[in-house]
Amino acid sequence: MSETNPCLGCGICCTHFRISFYWAEADDAPGGTVPAGMTEKLNDFLRCMKGSNSLPRRCTALQGEVGVGVSCSIYAQRPSPCREFPVYLEDGSPNPRCDSLRATIGLPPLLPSTWPAAA
Ligand code: SF4
Ligand code: SF4
Repeated sequence: MSETNPCLGCGICCTHFRISFYWAEADDAPGGTVPAGMTEKLNDFLRCMKGSNSLPRRCTALQGEVGVGVSCSIYAQRPSPCREFPVYLEDGSPNPRCDSLRATIGLPPLLPSTWPAAA
C-alpha cells in the first residue's frame, strides 16, 4: 500500500453528498465515534455531517483545498457512508462514481498506473 492515496488530492465527494447516517454513530451514543458536535439532526433516526445538508456543501470535517490537497480531520472516527464509498471496486477497477465526481473539478480519471499495487 505504498501508492499515494488519490483521495488526498481530491475530496470532491466530501463536498457533493449529504453525509447522513444512523444517529448512534455519533459519540454521544454508546460506541459511537463521530464527534456529535460536527453533526446535525435530520430526524429521529438520522444525523448528517454539518455542512453537508445545504448548498454549497462542504463537510465540516474536511480540511484543505478540494482538488489540491485535503484531509479528513476525523478520519478514524468518520461515519459509515465515508467508510463505505470505495475508490476501487472489488475487482480493483476504479469506482466510476469517483471518476465522474473527479471530472467535475478537472481531475483525471483514476488510471491503472495509480492503482494500488496488487498483493
Ligand atoms: S471522489 Fe473518490 S477519489 Fe475523490 S475523494 Fe472521494 S473517494 Fe476519493
Ligand atoms: S467525515 Fe471526513 S471523509 Fe466523511 S465527508 Fe467529512 S471530511 Fe469527508
